[in-house]
Amino acid sequence: MTETKALNDKGWNFDNSYSRLPDSFFTKQGPTPVRSPKLIILNDSLAASLGLNAEALRNDDGVEVFAGNLIPEDALPLAQAYAGHQFGHFNMLGDGRAVLLGEQITPSGERVDIQLKGSGRTPYSRGGDGRAALGPMLREYIISEAMHALGIATTRSLAVVTTGESLIRETELPGAILTRVAASHIRVGTFQFAARWGMEENIRALADYTIQRHYSEMEADENRYLSLLQEVIKRQAGLIAKWQLVGFIHGVMNTDNMSISGETIDYGPCAFMDVYNPATVFSSIDVQGRYAYGNQPHIAGWNLTRFAETLLPLLHDDEEQAIKLAEDALSEFTELYDRNWLAGMREKLGIFNEELEDESLVKSLLTMMEKYRADYTNTFRALTFDQCQDTELFGAAEFAQWHELWQSRLDRQQESRDSSHQLMRSSNPALIPRNHRVEEALDAAVKQGDYSVMKRLLHALSTPYAHSTEQADYTTLPALSSRPYQTFCGT
Ligand code: AMP
Ligand code: MG
Repeated sequence: MTETKALNDKGWNFDNSYSRLPDSFFTKQGPTPVRSPKLIILNDSLAASLGLNAEALRNDDGVEVFAGNLIPEDALPLAQAYAGHQFGHFNMLGDGRAVLLGEQITPSGERVDIQLKGSGRTPYSRGGDGRAALGPMLREYIISEAMHALGIATTRSLAVVTTGESLIRETELPGAILTRVAASHIRVGTFQFAARWGMEENIRALADYTIQRHYSEMEADENRYLSLLQEVIKRQAGLIAKWQLVGFIHGVMNTDNMSISGETIDYGPCAFMDVYNPATVFSSIDVQGRYAYGNQPHIAGWNLTRFAETLLPLLHDDEEQAIKLAEDALSEFTELYDRNWLAGMREKLGIFNEELEDESLVKSLLTMMEKYRADYTNTFRALTFDQCQDTELFGAAEFAQWHELWQSRLDRQQESRDSSHQLMRSSNPALIPRNHRVEEALDAAVKQGDYSVMKRLLHALSTPYAHSTEQADYTTLPALSSRPYQTFCGT
């Protein structure tokens, strides 16, 4: 058993509202203590915003909490139950290697989940060992913090500790635990879990809890469950558009990996696209390309349909009418997504107002980027700084024609060229966490115990729109000879 302690100096301030849901939604479950925890990285600015004392968290008894060896007094650890469609197939799941310590109430009154990932077996572990390896936990830390800095809603990473224990995957790897911070861990799959047993009271309890926690403004709505569905659709449309705009590929958009709060969650085989190609897939197990870059909006719509199905009994007493309400809400998704995406693309091209031809202007650029195998991020950066040289795309006659069209488009708006440039600077990141640079950082950390490479990378990623000289170093592409990049699940 893990020991409980007051730990007054740390700033922990837990409530445990999730534990007040019906019993079937979770199992009370503590983390399994580990042999010799060592703090690898602590997110000082996130700690401060949560009301935590970073210095005290670095003490032995602070680190023991991140390792699951010590439980702060008011925490009530539990593993959440959920279900999910994994690559289209329904499964009962749940936190198989994570526990929720509780909800930290921050100084500004926000409520966020504090979850230990890699904390040992739970009743939902199935065949797994409940543990996580250092590389993938640092990877989640780097990518989630990069996403946050890019202005994209995401779970955050508070700390990574090594456990002093190793785990067996293809080889023996150092074990680690990530402390993850989330608006909540309520997933589409949590609703699917509730709906699985046809228990309307449970679906209602979860929907009411979700509304109270995330969408309290709709509590008095005439049909608050319809409002919930509409709002989740809206947030996902906004979120996925932002992913597409920076070239982020989630890699495993199963329904259990889609958060009802609208945050990006569960960084497994995710990666950023370099060369623009809608068919890009990095995940080793996604052989069919279900979760390819260009397919993400479609999959989001599919997942939201699964969410809507779980709400049917709450939407209307009459099933046909409930289905009609759900279909109408779902039919909004594509338009909402398209609108968000096009608005973002206009910004990337320095366009302030709307013209009918803007979509074709954007699409013809993308078509050329695909044809000439242009790097997505660097192309927009070059456009921003008027440095369109030295690539096959920029040398093409059709690009010159497009460039002229774009320039005359900019001439037709009131705003100055300088305003356009400023808009583009703040919409086109100087850098993304490029796969070869992330791997380089993880290699140094895991193989040599050298965390300096990762810390430099994290620093550069923390202000992606600064366009500093330090960041220029991270814009170079991997050597052409390197094998296609592959990412892995469940590591
Ligand atoms: P993921 O692919 O990370 O979204 O995980 C899918 C499911 O597998 C979730 O229920 C996880 O909790 C579970 N899982 C992943 N890795 C492990 C592990 N090492 N031990 C136990 N359960 C795991
Ligand atoms: Mg998951």
